Amino acid sequence: MKTIVIGAGILGLAAAYSLTERGHEVILIEKEGPFAGASHRSFAWLNANNKFPESYYRINREGIEEHKRFQQEFPSEHTWLHPSGNLLVDFGNTRSETYAKRTADANGMGYPVETIGLNRLREIEPTIHWPDSLDCALFYPEEAWLDNDILGEELLRVLNDRGVELRISEAVSIETDSSTARVNLSDGTSISADSVVLAVGAWTRELAAASGFFVPVADLAEQTTRTHSLLGLTEPVDIPLQRILISDRVNVRPRHDGRMWVQVARVEERVAEGNNPRMLAEVAKVMGEELERLFDRPVPIEKVIYSGRSFPEDGHSIIGFLDEPKRLYTIVTHSGMTLGPLFGRLAVEELEGKDSDLLEDFRPSRFADGRVEEAGFDYFIGRQ
Ligand SMILES: Cc1cc2nc3c(=O)[nH]c(=O)nc-3n(C[C@H](O)[C@H](O)[C@H](O)COP(=O)(O)OP(=O)(O)OC[C@H]3O[C@@H](n4cnc5c(N)ncnc54)[C@H](O)[C@@H]3O)c2cc1C
Repeated sequence: MKTIVIGAGILGLAAAYSLTERGHEVILIEKEGPFAGASHRSFAWLNANNKFPESYYRINREGIEEHKRFQQEFPSEHTWLHPSGNLLVDFGNTRSETYAKRTADANGMGYPVETIGLNRLREIEPTIHWPDSLDCALFYPEEAWLDNDILGEELLRVLNDRGVELRISEAVSIETDSSTARVNLSDGTSISADSVVLAVGAWTRELAAASGFFVPVADLAEQTTRTHSLLGLTEPVDIPLQRILISDRVNVRPRHDGRMWVQVARVEERVAEGNNPRMLAEVAKVMGEELERLFDRPVPIEKVIYSGRSFPEDGHSIIGFLDEPKRLYTIVTHSGMTLGPLFGRLAVEELEGKDSDLLEDFRPSRFADGRVEEAGFDYFIGRQ
């Protein structure tokens, strides 16, 4: 099978990789450059935490398992997966309710969670200044953080070794019939293949519409917390943080280069101001203050990125065939870092004719009547 993959973010690269694993020919098209979209500016916390309904939890849980297999089996010396778990902390006075709810939710799904007391927190993450008033935190041992830049580079390297050339070109529409799929490019030329994988994140809606299909992904022009996030990057610091910390004050996680990714829920609403340098500088200051409070030492912020998401309007993944001849397959989701390798593999299995029960609730056909139940983005104590 010859397949054109449009989009070189995590989802397109993972699908292209799985296609080559199974001996298929791949043409990879990207309008800007690899990881030009959400995939290079992601918090990349792999989790199934607080994810509902059960079918969405299940794919995210399976997504974490797939990452473990993927890291193990991928032909590379590099490590990008760090399965060190996540500490969820409510520093405020609603702590007991938060923990009770989150524990009940996790137990209901069979998702591992532990309560960790203050002394143990001080032992396992000694660089954090744990206040005496904090009696405990929740620990999710199955969760992980991902060095997404390393994963992206390795995917590209292996694809290149396997003869997949990355073509910088913009797709403007896709046509399919019973015998072929054709991608029309902005320079007026077109390429044909047996099938097409549409993995263009936030741009899916417009490219699908130009091809005659309805795929409701929130428009980046909206500038709300559904479509954007403010992601901070620290300078390299000597803080050997091991785990992800998700809290009501600040979310922070380590990186391979000594920097840390940071988010602060209470400033997220400022995405409404657009990509405005003055706002970004003010947010950097808030992030710096939160980190200083957390680590009891200054932590300089290198930059804050005005970061666009690919958010399906109803909050859940959209994955499956769009057309009747089953030649045009789309993959668009939030939580794409958690779901990337799993969706890549399942997409290829479906292109080969083997449907996945896991994906039943996430088909594009749920929007066939043109109606969408819009979801908001609940930011309290992390939902990525
Ligand atoms: C701030 C932030 C934090 C996040 N945190 C997490 C997290 O903690 N855990 C998690 O699992 N997920 C997280 N996510 C979500 C995750 O990063 C995304 O779901 C994922 O990166 C989406 O990947 P993608 O490949 O679909 O899209 P993208 O990475 O956006 O890639 C799409 C690509 O398609 C290209 N393209 C677009 N249009 C065309 C065209 N017409 N022709 C050719 N190419 C085209 C673009 O240039 C781009 O390179 C976060 C996202 C953000 C923004």
